[in-house]
Amino acid sequence: MSQINLGIIGGGQLGSLLSIAAKKLDVHTIIYSDDIVAPAQNFCNEFIYGKYDDKKKFFEFVKKVDLITYEFENIPYETLNDMNKIKPVLPKPSVNRLIQHRLVEKDFINKLNIKTTKYAPVKKKSDLKSLEDFLPGILKTSTMGYDGKGQYPINKIEDIENLNIDFSKDYIIEKLVKLKKEISIIIVRYGMKSYEIYEPIENLHQDQILKHSKIPAEISNRILNQSKDWATRIAEELKYIGTLCVEFFIDNNDNLYVNEIAPRVHNSGHLTINAYNVSQFESHIRAVCSLKKVPLKKVSNAEMINLIGDQIIPYRKDIKLNKNQFFYDYLKKEIKNKRKMGHLTTLK
Ligand code: ADP
Ligand code: MG
Repeated sequence: MSQINLGIIGGGQLGSLLSIAAKKLDVHTIIYSDDIVAPAQNFCNEFIYGKYDDKKKFFEFVKKVDLITYEFENIPYETLNDMNKIKPVLPKPSVNRLIQHRLVEKDFINKLNIKTTKYAPVKKKSDLKSLEDFLPGILKTSTMGYDGKGQYPINKIEDIENLNIDFSKDYIIEKLVKLKKEISIIIVRYGMKSYEIYEPIENLHQDQILKHSKIPAEISNRILNQSKDWATRIAEELKYIGTLCVEFFIDNNDNLYVNEIAPRVHNSGHLTINAYNVSQFESHIRAVCSLKKVPLKKVSNAEMINLIGDQIIPYRKDIKLNKNQFFYDYLKKEIKNKRKMGHLTTLK
């Protein structure tokens, strides 16, 4: 087969790890990013810098590639749709449009009879006054949020008075779930009824940012089966191609809720690089490029910690790693507070 040229929109750590996986499969990667110092340029074959609304630059990119995928979901739908008219975009743009918007996403999940937290749209501050049933809750921007950005906890109705929030944007309010734990499912869909699924991953967040992931997740068999079943139904309904992540909440009464869907590879799946025969990144590339499906096999239990902000510094120096430890540096130029700089996976 001739060389595949895979276009990837986004140049962060997910783009980097996708590029590394692609190299192994002899797939050529061309990354488009609006960040001139995007770390993925250290790992891809070609790098194009341009804004996400620069049609001319995008066209240059589209011309170079056979197909297009993306490492983050906040790309304007119109942009993806325009590109899809020229070269295939996978997962397809309509999936992205649905998942970009928290309200549309939650409506979609509930229509499948899959449970989410209780939620309601909020367009203006006064809407909140009639939403006491949703408190304590979290007000979230409907679009563009990640790593807890654009989220405001509201404990009681009086808190609303002190809110200083830009209501030119749309929001939703979500009732706070009393979390026992959080898990995620990473599923790879190759085509109709053709899947590979990783075992549930248990996740710990600090300040709404993922800090720690591990397999096996300590959950009941019922939760294990229900989470896999829900993720499979979501992927099938979306006619999804590639790697998809579903994030779940488990409450103190062992109820399962879908938190959100990420139409892409996911931070909680970084441990699959070392813990499985095929990583979530390689699986994604195989699925979108129509390469052979490889059945997944776990090689080891594992845990992963994110190195956030200056936590990376000692690892960049000379921390001695054990044989079962794997350190990844995303090579981001600048260390910033709350920024994911790298991760460490330990096989157990
Ligand atoms: P992001 O898009 O930033 O990942 P999430 O909605 O996944 O936003 O929220 C990030 C984290 O904040 C969650 O993983 C969870 O730990 C916490 N969180 C968000 N919404 C709720 C909720 N309704 N109840 C309890 N915890 C929540
Ligand atoms: Mg999340």
